[in-house]
Amino acid sequence: MLALEYRIKDLDSRDKDIDMSLSPAFVADALLGIDASLDASSLQLDVRLSKVKSTVLCDGWLRGRLLLSCQRCLEPAVIDLAHRVHSIYVPETDTVVESTDGSDEDLDEDDLDYAHHNGEVVDLWPLLREQIILSIPMAVLCKEDCQGLCPSCGIDRNQLSCSCQAGPTLSPFAALRDIKLPS
Ligand SMILES: [Zn+2]
Ligand SMILES: [Zn+2]
Repeated sequence: MLALEYRIKDLDSRDKDIDMSLSPAFVADALLGIDASLDASSLQLDVRLSKVKSTVLCDGWLRGRLLLSCQRCLEPAVIDLAHRVHSIYVPETDTVVESTDGSDEDLDEDDLDYAHHNGEVVDLWPLLREQIILSIPMAVLCKEDCQGLCPSCGIDRNQLSCSCQAGPTLSPFAALRDIKLPS
């Protein structure tokens, strides 16, 4: 299990700015089981960690480019990722406060993610990994209107056309054949 850990004690005196490319191991971990070109994929983490009482805030951006395979034609499909990171890590002993109290209407918690830290270190990876996975669309396509491969001959229908795809398309004259013109 990979971890992206930072010591909480180091945040006592000052915030920590993190601006780094995640190593290929992290990219591989996030894309586990997904058909991807890992060499051509990259993830950049640009966040600030700060401590408020016993909680750790992580605020910034996770950006990257993932090179996956189009589900229809198997050509490369580029996923540009720009995820706003806005997470709060609370001690494991604390129960996560849900915004059930209607009196806290000032709190804009819509875009906040909650996770736990163990008091010693905060591990950013589990939440980031989840966010990367959620950023990948259900349908990974090279382009929205990808024509895919012909199921009969396997030709890439974005590049070429084949005769087998014509199928039941009728010539306009076919319909005329059966019409008896009044004489
Ligand atoms: Zn495609
Ligand atoms: Zn074909």
